[in-house]
Amino acid sequence: MSEGLSDYRKKRKFEKTPEPEGGEGAEEGPFFVVQKHKASSLHYDFRIQIEGVLKSWAVPKGPSMKPSVKRLAIETEDHPTEYGDFEGVIPEGEYGAGVVQIWDRGTFENLKTEDGEEVPIEESYEQGQVEVRLEGEKLRGGFALVKTGGSDDDKWLLIKMRDDEADPDQEPVDDMPKSAVSDRTIEEIAEDEESD
Ligand code: MN
Repeated sequence: MSEGLSDYRKKRKFEKTPEPEGGEGAEEGPFFVVQKHKASSLHYDFRIQIEGVLKSWAVPKGPSMKPSVKRLAIETEDHPTEYGDFEGVIPEGEYGAGVVQIWDRGTFENLKTEDGEEVPIEESYEQGQVEVRLEGEKLRGGFALVKTGGSDDDKWLLIKMRDDEADPDQEPVDDMPKSAVSDRTIEEIAEDEESD
């Protein structure tokens, strides 16, 4: 099991939360997931698979397709790759209590180059300069994650890169509120779990 998941596990009681403990690893190739999380405050958890875990950022306003917009992204603990399949309700009293929706999911490609050479994504992550091309249901094209502070700082910015998919008029979090896997809104996910 990855040591990167110790923070994740410390925060959760797996006998109480339906979230995965992790450790099996995902079968598929590198993927990203954006989970809409209605907890004490609503945010979008942006996660990309790097070195066997999901590197994670909480984006209060969610991703934008407008290249002029910089969205605050606060780095959070690594999550297991199995978390990419989690949609449901975290019970009251547990860490992150609230509703989780798989808002978008898909594969990605590393875009970061230096002097014409690809920079491995582990390196660009360490340098605080990640550039990926997303192939999701909603998010497509290049996105940059840029660390703004020093090494102890968890603040990054999520920015749509200028390309054919960029759109100055599109805010997908407003226009496309349904789950990428179940077609449910976050309210419908909460209702479905209550009626179980
Ligand atoms: Mn969250």
